[in-house]
Amino acid sequence: MSKSKKLKILMAAAEVSPLAKVGGLADVVGSIAPALQKLKTDTRIIMPLYGSIDKKSFSLKKTHSNIKVPSGRVMINVNIWEAILPKSKVKIYFIDAPQYFDQKEVYLKTNNSERFLFFSYAILFILPIINFEPDIIHCHDSHTALIPDIIKTNNLEYIKNLKTLYTIHNFRYQGKTRPTVLSTGNLNADLLKSLSIDIKDGDVNFMVQGVLNADLINTVSPSYAKEIVSSAYGAGLEKIIKRRKNDLFGILNGIDTDFFNPAKDKYIYKKYNINTINKKQDNKVALQKELGLPINKNKAVVALISRFAWQKGIDLFTDEFLTLDCQFVFLGTGSREYEQHIQKLAKKYPKNISANIKFNVELAQKIYASSDIFLMPSRFEPCGLGQMISMRYGTVPVVRETGGLKDSVKSLNIKKGKNRIYRFSKPVTATGFSFKKIDEKEFFEALKSALYVYYNHPESWRHIQKNCMKKDFSWKSSAKEYLQLYKKILKK
Ligand code: ADP
Repeated sequence: MSKSKKLKILMAAAEVSPLAKVGGLADVVGSIAPALQKLKTDTRIIMPLYGSIDKKSFSLKKTHSNIKVPSGRVMINVNIWEAILPKSKVKIYFIDAPQYFDQKEVYLKTNNSERFLFFSYAILFILPIINFEPDIIHCHDSHTALIPDIIKTNNLEYIKNLKTLYTIHNFRYQGKTRPTVLSTGNLNADLLKSLSIDIKDGDVNFMVQGVLNADLINTVSPSYAKEIVSSAYGAGLEKIIKRRKNDLFGILNGIDTDFFNPAKDKYIYKKYNINTINKKQDNKVALQKELGLPINKNKAVVALISRFAWQKGIDLFTDEFLTLDCQFVFLGTGSREYEQHIQKLAKKYPKNISANIKFNVELAQKIYASSDIFLMPSRFEPCGLGQMISMRYGTVPVVRETGGLKDSVKSLNIKKGKNRIYRFSKPVTATGFSFKKIDEKEFFEALKSALYVYYNHPESWRHIQKNCMKKDFSWKSSAKEYLQLYKKILKK
């Protein structure tokens, strides 16, 4: 790329918000692309055309029909559509391959490896057709992790200099499948050493391939990048990722600071900003009313909004927590075991805990705005959004020191002294409370410290809340770091 030319990036992803969203991946791609565009790059997105995407409301236009993409021994008919990502200038290409993506769901119960391998191959195949020559393909998660393999094994002039960045959003979702699937992407284990080694155990692991073959790799927080090379966090791939240690980086995700904004949030009971934080109390009272909790504006409300999964440490929340002087509000769905655990506690202590077993964005916003404290006792956390959203709403997080939680929450240095008196340093820059070990007692103590400051030192508490609200979690700074990483790739 010459200096005068714009850097051209193609983001390849299975999910892009608001077109198709299952989890955080969609938000990241949908936010980072416009942020990069604002940094004077030519960033575009490519994704599958799922049956659920409303062509009319997103103004999709078909630009190419009946392109025959070779896949193993067959030809697969593909159409290409284009649109502009809402509220941006980012162009999105859609690969319309009904055979694989006709259904409404992004992920099906089976066949995902084959579907996304075809998508990955089709991306490279259609580049000359859409007439876009990216400098870098930015691959997200295991779905598109075989793009570097395809580039390396295809002797095509137009992709010869194409570079890749592979972003790992969660190291545990690896995309393992039978090696026969490789032919869908016209891949052959004999052509690439990393593939021939990988399939020796009887399956091919897309994550392994992305890690071994991308030009550079990153995770969604600096701490998670350091953690995954250890056996505790490496999900069985610590030795593999260690090989790329020098090419592995961590960039903290941002949040959509327009959507998550207590001054403009249409869902919350009463809007507020850093100068009117006391209006959080009005929100609190309204939430207590809505959820049937005793109304008391002075009582600390402690919230948890999350997928109910092993990763999130829901099980560290025990009966003992209900002895604390506060009200708990839970919102989440997931594993039956954790749902029942929280429901049982709510039945036993109806005045102290409200269990909301559902997915509800509106209620989530109300809870972020109304609570005093937000819990994230995660076993591991690649980045985590909840703690950043809660800080934006002046709700102080209590987190386990792991991954993105460690990188985004600065704990108050507080120690327990005699006679239930705590000692703590002035909360000059503190934005929360944290604990180290995956341990219910440590978690309990961290929350207890937070409650101590909340009830006994309102001025310090207000200071911490303001520190939280002052933090800049917009995508602008993350986008700048991605830009640096792209530049590093081009120099390689
Ligand atoms: P993960 O992506 O691992 O699930 P994150 O903290 O990165 O966790 O992001 C979770 C996002 O989903 C947050 O924005 C959180 O508010 C939201 N969320 C989780 N559960 C619910 C729910 N039941 N209702 C509404 N929003 C939810």
